[in-house]
Amino acid sequence: MRPTPLLLREAMTIVVDETTERAGDLLLVDGQVAGGEGPVAAGVGGAGLGGRPEALDVSGCVVTAGLVNAHHHLLQTAFRTLPGTRGVPMATWLPTMAAAYVRVGVDPELVGAAALAGSAEGLLCGVTTIADHHLTWPAGASTADSVALARAAADAASSVGSRLVFVRGSARDDPQEAALSAEAICQALVPGRADGVSADGMLQVAVGPAGVHSDPRETFALLGEVAQRHGLRRRTQANEQVDVAIALERYGKRPLQLLDEWGWLGPDVTLAHLCDVTPEEIALVAAAGCAATHAPGCDVPMGWGVAPVAALLEAGVVVGLGTSGGGSNDAGHLLADARLAMQVSGLVGPQLAARAVLGMATRGSAVGLGRPELGHLRPGAAADLCVWDVSGVADAGVADPVAGLLWAAPGRRPRHVVVAGEVVVRDYELVRVAEREVVERLRARLARVARLG
Ligand SMILES: [Zn+2]
Repeated sequence: MRPTPLLLREAMTIVVDETTERAGDLLLVDGQVAGGEGPVAAGVGGAGLGGRPEALDVSGCVVTAGLVNAHHHLLQTAFRTLPGTRGVPMATWLPTMAAAYVRVGVDPELVGAAALAGSAEGLLCGVTTIADHHLTWPAGASTADSVALARAAADAASSVGSRLVFVRGSARDDPQEAALSAEAICQALVPGRADGVSADGMLQVAVGPAGVHSDPRETFALLGEVAQRHGLRRRTQANEQVDVAIALERYGKRPLQLLDEWGWLGPDVTLAHLCDVTPEEIALVAAAGCAATHAPGCDVPMGWGVAPVAALLEAGVVVGLGTSGGGSNDAGHLLADARLAMQVSGLVGPQLAARAVLGMATRGSAVGLGRPELGHLRPGAAADLCVWDVSGVADAGVADPVAGLLWAAPGRRPRHVVVAGEVVVRDYELVRVAEREVVERLRARLARVARLG
């Protein structure tokens, strides 16, 4: 069903993209930003408009593209502030998390409840697309079981109105089984698609081993074959503390050198984290055309390092932004992490400007997911956007309201959020689902485990 056209009226500022800002109205038709050439423009004001647009008063507000969280682990939403996971090295963190997954039991109900909470939290914070790098497949799970887990995450995101990129990850999985599962998930969730993206753009499938610290060359090769067959994006995590240490110990090489040898550097690859990278490695990533995902909300509090974002950008690498999961970053609040990215950037290079980081959280992430229609508000873009009300006391005295989105009001949430032309958050509330029901579903699932002891 086509959404009713939506007219945003009298915005203080519309951040169209990193180089264009204007005031005024914005019309959304058929899930796209209207204006310019082509079928969208033809529909505006004509018979194609499909009735009078719904008007939304956005005076006193800044409008931006919807935020794109390029790196999350939605399952970890069920495991936030887990005892024994803070202030520890990653080599301790990983088995502590793994034991918790076994104790609670990873099934479609848990995956669905965690993804529902995580994607609802995302929308309330302005995140309209989430990449869920799912790494947790229970031992002995069949291919059909893995499809059920993926479908549970997809259904959850869809039910609140969020876009989802489901990344079939692997963490020490059997390489053959991981590849069979990725193939089956692709066929079940995005059948017949040449790029892994559903016809309506709401669901995407990608593949991604957790990293060279966890998966052997064969896993990268076999998941890479699935990606090639279906035109999927490839992702992995590289050059966090433990990744570099294990790669050196096991192979006598650093992770990016291994990824290069294993055929996992290229324009269809996005590398998350990249905390500990040398100038030569930055040049290698740039030359290969890889994108990067910065995740300071995970790496900084865990003490895992700070990616040298300015140096990556300077080398020509497109950098997006991700929160990573609840096991390391207890919030899925991408704007808060954009603020953090800006604040810590000066520790590893020149200070990043607010607009540059906002660009990372929108267009940078979208490019890394292979989604040129997301992350900006030019004519023909997907109608995903946030309406930030900057008329309150936290923004009083702010000279530059766009920079203020990041600098002022930590924890800021958007008043309204639109995905594919549909208002999914209105006046700070979810439209499709009651927030307390989302909370209750995860609470009940976790409580059942506690009762069983
Ligand atoms: Zn991560």
